[in-house]
Amino acid sequence: MRKYFLTTFIIVTAIFVATVFMPTGLSQTTSNKTRGAIGRIEKSNEEWRRVLTPQQFNVMRERGTEEPYSGKYNDFKGKGVYTCAGCGLTLFSSATKFDSGTGWPSFYAPIVANHIGTETDSSMGEQRTEVHCARCGAHLGHVFDDGPAPTGLRYCMNSVALKFKNKR
Ligand code: FE
Repeated sequence: MRKYFLTTFIIVTAIFVATVFMPTGLSQTTSNKTRGAIGRIEKSNEEWRRVLTPQQFNVMRERGTEEPYSGKYNDFKGKGVYTCAGCGLTLFSSATKFDSGTGWPSFYAPIVANHIGTETDSSMGEQRTEVHCARCGAHLGHVFDDGPAPTGLRYCMNSVALKFKNKR
């Protein structure tokens, strides 16, 4: 009888603990997932060389720049989203693409602010703001403050760092 009581007590205690503490634990896990939803992708240069073309590797991992007017998305007007060519993270929408006349595909805003990262770039004898993918770190281009409304920003991107996906 005493053993039966003890077993019941342990089960009831376990259910109580689970009920009181589990929802908190679960909701914390969910919000952590939401906050860090894009995660981080890290690969060695060797691994990147295997999945990128030499030109993509030069632009995305060595901060190179494609020749103006050479990229396939400069004059492209398809409706859809542009993802990172390295990791597939959604970056820009065709709805924010505009003709900047620079020879590179240009957008006035990213789809989600935290999908891109920026860094001060002092190369080429001037201060510019470098733009990269927040998930895999791929260099995408630069952002300038001479863009159109509503942001006044011009995200000047390299076509090879992007991959277009049609709106379905
Ligand atoms: Fe990426």
